[in-house]
Amino acid sequence: MKEDVFAYIDDHKAQMMDLWQDLVNQDSPASYREGVDLVAKRVFKELEEAGASTRWDEEGKALIAEIPGDSRAPVLLLGHMDTVFPVGEAARRPFTVEGSRVTGPGALDMKGGVAVMLSALKALHSAGFSGRPLKVILVSDEEIAHNGSKATVMLQREARGCAACFNCETGYEDNSLVIGRKGGVVFKAAVHGIAAHAGNNPRQGRSAIWEMAKKIDDIQNMTDWDKGITFNVGTIKGGTVSNAIPDYCEVEGDIRFQDPDISPFVKEELFKVLNHTYMEGMKTELLLYHEGMLPMKMTEENRKLFEFVKKTGEENGIPVSEGKLVGGGSDSGYVVYAGVPTVCAMGVKGRFNHTRDEYALKDSLFERAKLLGAVILKMNEV
Ligand SMILES: [Zn+2]
Repeated sequence: MKEDVFAYIDDHKAQMMDLWQDLVNQDSPASYREGVDLVAKRVFKELEEAGASTRWDEEGKALIAEIPGDSRAPVLLLGHMDTVFPVGEAARRPFTVEGSRVTGPGALDMKGGVAVMLSALKALHSAGFSGRPLKVILVSDEEIAHNGSKATVMLQREARGCAACFNCETGYEDNSLVIGRKGGVVFKAAVHGIAAHAGNNPRQGRSAIWEMAKKIDDIQNMTDWDKGITFNVGTIKGGTVSNAIPDYCEVEGDIRFQDPDISPFVKEELFKVLNHTYMEGMKTELLLYHEGMLPMKMTEENRKLFEFVKKTGEENGIPVSEGKLVGGGSDSGYVVYAGVPTVCAMGVKGRFNHTRDEYALKDSLFERAKLLGAVILKMNEV
């Protein structure tokens, strides 16, 4: 059957490129519903051709497809249809193939990955695949961390009980895959002091900068390398002139961590530091505390699944190098949190996602579709 799957991919390269092109040339920032809907419409059609029954989950603003099979746990394929690029970007910078590279908004992150997934499913369907049920979830607001939908709840609910998940997110040129992702928090805090003339009545003043400086030292010291938690105060502003005691100081910071279970602890620790006042009469205000994507915990199950993928690659002459931890988040965090072993970055390979320099490697579309197809076939044997 594997030969049939691979032959289908080899024989349908032009159609696969057309699909990739259609997806890229439709703008779909998360804020542009019409665009996302048009992408979804195209994806629905492909999924139905692959033998799937499809539905739209309004709560999670996501497309869910199921290919029925036996009573074993399904294999889950995950991705997103939105990009970071604004409306009009596809007209300015349409899908272009130049030598080995493909460019256009979201060519790498992750319209290429969606094409990988759909092509692998169609190849399996045409080869007469049956056995393990397959499930697909494609969300429409990943790039804005699901701000405005309940996708994070839906993802955990729909993923629970799946045997494995392959997220066709942005792939890497060095053939590495991702089995762990850090989560992060952005915060902003201000200290209000009491202004006074530094020469005439310095005793009446309370320096907001001094108070904040002490807090910054405390914040930075919360970094715990062993636990993989880092705190960084990245910007600071305050004061007006050198001869005035400053009554205002503001900082912005970033916290990163690997274990989703410590998220409440991190928050508590930061609050403790901010609420500790060194000088009487100072007021501290938390202006922003934004929790981004849930970290993808680097579990033993993820490592095992990665080894399975790597071995499948080796058996088929498809290079897979290492399973790594990266700083940026993805929806894999929610799926791992729901107890599903996951390998991420299974999509097309390239560089510079989220920028206009983004490019994907053309041939990785075919390579990764074969890898995914082979992995699903092998999962069907166990
Ligand atoms: Zn992405």
